[in-house]
Amino acid sequence: MREATVSAELSGLVVTPSPIHGLGVFAKRSFLAGQLLFSTDEYSVTPYPIYGSVRRGPTEHLLEPQVLRWTNHSCEPNARVRFRGRVAEILASRPVRAGDEVVCDYLETEDEVPFPFRCNCGHCDGVWIG
Ligand SMILES: [Zn+2]
Repeated sequence: MREATVSAELSGLVVTPSPIHGLGVFAKRSFLAGQLLFSTDEYSVTPYPIYGSVRRGPTEHLLEPQVLRWTNHSCEPNARVRFRGRVAEILASRPVRAGDEVVCDYLETEDEVPFPFRCNCGHCDGVWIG
């Protein structure tokens, strides 16, 4: 039941079960395109991709346990990851309504997805992401 402990209140976001996969990140209020959804400098770094990590460089993969770890993939994302120095951010790439799942395109950050999967975003035919 480790997952239950991450259902933390995160300002405008909440981690809760997702129709796409497992747990997902959902907006509790609406955000404008370009608006910051989340930022943190609290994460661990591994030299290789692991499940839930986000690639910042060839040998730098961030594992951030509160939000990035739970952000699901979509072929039609409404958010994207940006790095500013040590700070990792999630920005709305288009308007996000309250209740929407916050989704990123993993292929924007990852060279390879360590655990390839069949996409369940609802916008594609179930393409392999990996
Ligand atoms: Zn898809």
